[in-house]
Amino acid sequence: MFENLKEQPADKILALMQMYRDDPREQKIDLGVGVYKNAEGITPVMRAVKAAEKRIWEEQQTKSYTGLAGDPAFADAMIGLVLDGAVDRDRIAAVATPGGTGACRQAFELIRMANPKARVFVSDPTWPNHLSILNYLGMETVTYRYFDSETGGVDFDGMMADLKDAHPGDVVLLHGCCHNPTGANLNMVEWQEVVNLINENELVAMIDIAYQGFGDGLDEDAAATRLVASSVSECLIAASCSKNFGVYRERTGLLMAISDKPEQTKLNQGTLAFLNRQNYSFPPDHGARVVATILNDPELRADWAAELEEVRQSMLGLRQQLADELRRLTGSDRFAFLAQHRGMFSRLGTSPEKVARLRDDFGIYMVGDSRMNIAGLNQATVPILAKAIVDAGI
Ligand code: PMP
Repeated sequence: MFENLKEQPADKILALMQMYRDDPREQKIDLGVGVYKNAEGITPVMRAVKAAEKRIWEEQQTKSYTGLAGDPAFADAMIGLVLDGAVDRDRIAAVATPGGTGACRQAFELIRMANPKARVFVSDPTWPNHLSILNYLGMETVTYRYFDSETGGVDFDGMMADLKDAHPGDVVLLHGCCHNPTGANLNMVEWQEVVNLINENELVAMIDIAYQGFGDGLDEDAAATRLVASSVSECLIAASCSKNFGVYRERTGLLMAISDKPEQTKLNQGTLAFLNRQNYSFPPDHGARVVATILNDPELRADWAAELEEVRQSMLGLRQQLADELRRLTGSDRFAFLAQHRGMFSRLGTSPEKVARLRDDFGIYMVGDSRMNIAGLNQATVPILAKAIVDAGI
């Protein structure tokens, strides 16, 4: 049996991480993998997470199974964090999932189950896992224009023109904030236009929100998701806690299915629970319990929000420093978009050859499509990167 297996494509980012580790040069910079790192290059456990874990360790009496949907307190707390009352609770079905990836996977399965003919429109580019899971599930995908490499911003006209090709029932997958891999995002006027198109053409909205709190603030980053959820008749929201709670390995996420008909919610909830059952039965609980503990305790919540704000500010500071340094070196505003981008990533918008040059000649590692993890920088390495960008002729 096993001899029938075929080699699967290697994960490019993991391969890049290995190359970085094997590089003997002392001066090297890792801008590859998508985890937040502080100025010392560490991905710390957040203070509130430690405190919540301690409390759980002291108070938890059992590790028996939760429900198929996970702990309801987690769902309620996350619905509050993401939607803040924008949608009535009785319209929302929700299940805990293993991370945001699990939420996306379950969302895609739900779409395939409910409408096998639905095509999923994804931004060009999008997080590669979207495409690989959709392909694996045999679902049809269509890309819509998104990134304008001339300006470093969104090609909004191209995006709207491409979305006009969607048929009723097709799904539009949108990044709620902090677009991965580009860092370029829609403004609220543009979001409203997307909502109008979704409604006019009877499309289904799906939002992947994996970086709430990494862009403009917790509420600001959820504003687009709240607008969509409260304006369309049906939508799916995949939320990840990996980044904003720093609980990457605990696999913590939530999938919401929202309908404008409250009487539909029971069926949606049952279907989501069924999908959990088929794939892994009960979703992981530890990270979800930590998140619920933090969000439901005013002190822990305030401390978490304060630490997240420091993280956000540090990335904004690095963006500004990099844009300033490049302005100084080039005498132009060509790289001003780096300060406008939001979240952990920015797409530099250069060729794979130049990306390879940065790696081979300067020890700077970024993904081949020129996505940089801004959190891989610190104040000392920003000038090194800026000079390398110029020296590499970018
Ligand atoms: N969506 C996007 C756009 C992401 O960038 C990520 C993290 N790389 C995720 C979802 C899910 O991450 P996780 O499964 O680790 O929660």
